[in-house]
Amino acid sequence: MVEETQRDDMTWYRCEKCGLMFDSEDDATKHEETCDAEDPSYLR
Ligand SMILES: [Zn+2]
Repeated sequence: MVEETQRDDMTWYRCEKCGLMFDSEDDATKHEETCDAEDPSYLR
């Protein structure tokens, strides 16, 4: 799911699967629906 992040007084939306950041929640949600990075092995 999309993770909200505060940075530089802006809200960013991060794809939890691949780590890509978006400034629009809509963009992030759409990206995540098609994101094929199912295994975020580099996260935690
Ligand atoms: Zn992604």
